[in-house]
Amino acid sequence: MALESGRGPRDDRRNRDWSPEEWAAESCGSPVVARKDGTNPVADAPAPVAGDFHKLGLAPATLAAVERAGYSVPTPVQAGFIPRALAGGDVMGQARTGTGKTAAFVLPILERVSQPSERGGAGPRALVLVPTRELAVQVRDEFEKLAHGSRIHCVAVYGGKPIRGQIDKLAKRPAVVVGTPGRVLDHMSRGTIQFGGLEIVTLDEADRMLDIGFRPDIEKILRRCPDSRQTLLLSATVPPAVAKLATRYMRDPEILDFSTGEIAVETIEQFYFTVDPTRKFDLLERLLERENPRQVIIFCRTKRGTDKVFERLARRRSRAGGAEDVACIHGDLAQNVRDRVMKQFREGQVRILVATDVVGRGIDVSTLSHIVNYDIPEFCDDYVHRVGRTGRMGREGVAYTFVAPDEGQQLTRIEMRIEKLLKRDEIPGFEAFERRAKAAPIQQTGPGGAFVTSTGEPAPEPPPAAPPKPSSASLLGKGRGPKRHRRAL
Ligand code: ADP
Ligand code: MG
Repeated sequence: MALESGRGPRDDRRNRDWSPEEWAAESCGSPVVARKDGTNPVADAPAPVAGDFHKLGLAPATLAAVERAGYSVPTPVQAGFIPRALAGGDVMGQARTGTGKTAAFVLPILERVSQPSERGGAGPRALVLVPTRELAVQVRDEFEKLAHGSRIHCVAVYGGKPIRGQIDKLAKRPAVVVGTPGRVLDHMSRGTIQFGGLEIVTLDEADRMLDIGFRPDIEKILRRCPDSRQTLLLSATVPPAVAKLATRYMRDPEILDFSTGEIAVETIEQFYFTVDPTRKFDLLERLLERENPRQVIIFCRTKRGTDKVFERLARRRSRAGGAEDVACIHGDLAQNVRDRVMKQFREGQVRILVATDVVGRGIDVSTLSHIVNYDIPEFCDDYVHRVGRTGRMGREGVAYTFVAPDEGQQLTRIEMRIEKLLKRDEIPGFEAFERRAKAAPIQQTGPGGAFVTSTGEPAPEPPPAAPPKPSSASLLGKGRGPKRHRRAL
């Protein structure tokens, strides 16, 4: 399959706001809702009101900021999540990437902190925890955008920046703090942040925050937060094990799943290439030449691998006079370099970004047209998040995954997770080896739930390392999540 170079709009869904009807169709109907005790509150809960921010219970000042931000129609997760969060209870919300989850928690927080505090203790009234520094900045910016015209201040605290400046800002008693767990703990141990007055705690990218890497830090922080707080959790992926674990930190939570259709966004076309590891770089060059992407993130597994791909690309492109539009980002770079790269990427000066999963979660750059998984992700959910950096708010995107001969089963697991087959793509001269069926059967769910191969044959046997069941099937289903031992990003 050949895509047009430059990729102009191919249908009118691209790069425009969706109508209320389209959003309603996209919303997969009502969310799946459940309470901890197993009762279903759908019957007595207010129905999500698609089409009007005015019906969500927001104050006129907040509505004015929403309008100023250019948000005319609430997305399904916003329509469902906001009224429930405003009601004061604990809520966990799952919705696909790029569907406006940030505003879904920012708006009820702003609404609450604009009212006089009932608690009156020291410190911020709302705390938002996120996994990366870049996301902390982005969420802080969303707060500032939606708090426009109010006197509510939001401070971002994250590592890699001098702590002094953050201490000064915290001393001014902002109502909202957005932070990465490590730096929040640092401020806690210095006594420069208190949680006596805390009313709402939010975990964005909740499954990542509760996986083995972050959980100890999150627990330390939550132990210091008042018991009576409201807790909000959001993510595009919530494996059942995490959903179960999350309820430990919440009181009688409502669990809303807006991704009951497909977990991956359907406006993202998804392809794979089979490729010999030694030819990956050449394939990448040819793919970039063919696609001429408006903006692309090339995801690599390691920081060293990211550097190498970046250096080779920059060298080749400098010979062609275009090196300045390539950059790389990972956790070993100085924070001022990371900040500069993100700024240039957001502004479009950087067109090709080589990255680790440090930008795999949450980052929102609407002009991003392509994703390349130069290295196939280790965890299926990371695939969902990486490709979800494109195709945001109904826009189109394309994702390519390079699959080495011994990675067929990883691809199969991803396909089972997203309940969809990736299409095979080829560039002449780069067919690495025979059909990956030799490495692992390509399978999809046929009518009646049976797995069949891509040719329609019944699968000989299920792939050995497959998860028990694609967990997207139900947020509330049973099953164990994968053990998550991540390398540093
Ligand atoms: P998610 O967290 O679900 O991945 P984000 O909160 O990052 O998604 O939002 C994706 C994009 O959609 C952002 O650029 C945001 O400004 C925009 N957005 C959010 N809500 C709306 C809305 N109601 N109408 C139009 N754009 C919106
Ligand atoms: Mg988000």
